[in-house]
Amino acid sequence: MTIREHLHQKLRHAKNVKLAGFVVFGIGLALAASAGGRNPVFAAIAIAGFVVAFVVGIFIQAKVCCPKCGKGVGKFLVRDENILFVWRPIDYCPYCGVSLDSELEEL
Ligand SMILES: [Zn+2]
Repeated sequence: MTIREHLHQKLRHAKNVKLAGFVVFGIGLALAASAGGRNPVFAAIAIAGFVVAFVVGIFIQAKVCCPKCGKGVGKFLVRDENILFVWRPIDYCPYCGVSLDSELEEL
């Protein structure tokens, strides 16, 4: 398994939870709007979904780390998948320079 595969595996799980948080946020907003904003439970559901998505976003930046130097590279990996901007995907850890295509066992 390469470092890139290892990092994307960690990222995939976190992104699924983040997406679920945004879905709950959207459902909560839709329910709150349909209730005319008079039901605090729907607003709480929306806020809970947003908090989950926000916390997972921070988790991605802080805990998806280079296995060699231990510094967070999650923000660069997420940035590479952004469809609004064209970024050059990273091939090396920006902190220690290890190739993301090198085998994880070699470290
Ligand atoms: Zn590194």
